Amino acid sequence: MDYGALRAVWIDNVERAEAVGAMLAEYSEQMDLQERFAPEVIALLKQLHVWESVHGSDDEDTSLALQCRWIEALAARCTSSAVLVQSQLTVAHTLLLSGMISAQDLVEPMRGGVVWGWGLTEPDAGTDIMGMVTTAERDGDDFVINGTKRFISNVGMATNYLVFARTNAERGSRSLSAFVVSADEPGVSVSRLESKMGLRASPTGDLVFESVRVPGTALVGEVGDGVKLALNTLQWSRPLIGAVSVGVARGVYETLRDIEVPDEDAVRVLVDGEQARGHAIADILIKVCAARSYLYDVAHRADRTGKLPPMWEAAAVKTFCSDTAMAVASEAVRLGGRAAVMPGARLQRYFRDAKVLQIFEGANQIQRNAVMRGLRGVDFHEM
Ligand SMILES: Cc1cc2nc3c(=O)[nH]c(=O)nc-3n(C[C@H](O)[C@H](O)[C@H](O)COP(=O)(O)OP(=O)(O)OC[C@H]3O[C@@H](n4cnc5c(N)ncnc54)[C@H](O)[C@@H]3O)c2cc1C
Repeated sequence: MDYGALRAVWIDNVERAEAVGAMLAEYSEQMDLQERFAPEVIALLKQLHVWESVHGSDDEDTSLALQCRWIEALAARCTSSAVLVQSQLTVAHTLLLSGMISAQDLVEPMRGGVVWGWGLTEPDAGTDIMGMVTTAERDGDDFVINGTKRFISNVGMATNYLVFARTNAERGSRSLSAFVVSADEPGVSVSRLESKMGLRASPTGDLVFESVRVPGTALVGEVGDGVKLALNTLQWSRPLIGAVSVGVARGVYETLRDIEVPDEDAVRVLVDGEQARGHAIADILIKVCAARSYLYDVAHRADRTGKLPPMWEAAAVKTFCSDTAMAVASEAVRLGGRAAVMPGARLQRYFRDAKVLQIFEGANQIQRNAVMRGLRGVDFHEM
């Protein structure tokens, strides 16, 4: 392995990711206030070749650590933009996993500006995906999809959706299947948009399927592969949510550093109140570093071994990083006082965004169940 070349790729990506992140900063507060994802940002991501950089153009290039590093840099400035990129990578992972598409085939449409949405959740199927009632019935060579997906990110903005539907009425591990559906397909509509507490620029809403006919080639993998694909995708996507969380936590720290931290001479003559505030910021920095180290430990290990992070660890890293983001954002809002709670204040946006990170992609209580199930399989000799 050529470590020098790998290092050069890493440094080049870090520099570009940080530069793109810095450009997003000017949009994030406005987009949050207006609850609208600016089309200029999608154009910018396209123009700066973010999709292909993040994804890698062949299967060999796909690196979890590199994807996390890009997402961290974007989230530090604009959580909604980071979530947009993260959701593309999540769909991409499912499609690659199923063997439906190669990295090269996938990157090309993304480069052209294709945006994906991922449709699993329903009004009565959130944490428990087996509650899903959307159906895909076979009709000759086609499938006909009926049902409503709820809380779908990128809704209305996406040009394609990866949709999970029931192909077998019996509950069970082979009862769901996944389909690629174009947003333009007759019968696909957006019936409502949510006004959310956090991730306000990222559109979320209901996606309705009324007798939507798709060809058999829209099936991802085999009939009945839906649960397996969804679960295996989580092993990739949960660390990516960890990366969004690390970006938010880091953004919190950097915001405080830029407005609060005195220079070295001033630190020597701190009065009590200032020292207490300084310790609080020091604690925030320590927490950010711990979450960041854990994230990249998991991601680099996955790259090194060529194996997905185990389910328990994908859950653990998502939980630790998002709980850290919430803890540091909450403390930062306290430190910021009245200025931090005003509309348009960056710290309160991080606070609101962090709360969503603890809930979506599986609430952190559900992650703890996954960690609990993995307890016996943990072997530090192998890590
Ligand atoms: C901003 C946003 C974007 C989203 N984007 C998408 C998307 O693109 N595609 C998609 O398919 N879905 C999406 N979702 C849905 C998301 O994945 C679900 O919200 C999440 O899985 C939790 O489901 P729920 O909201 O129905 O919570 P519920 O299942 O109603 O649970 C509510 C709370 O109860 C607790 N709880 C539930 N079950 C247990 C248990 N067994 N043990 C302990 N505690 C429990 C947890 O604290 C949980 O937070 C999005 C959600 C949000 C908020």
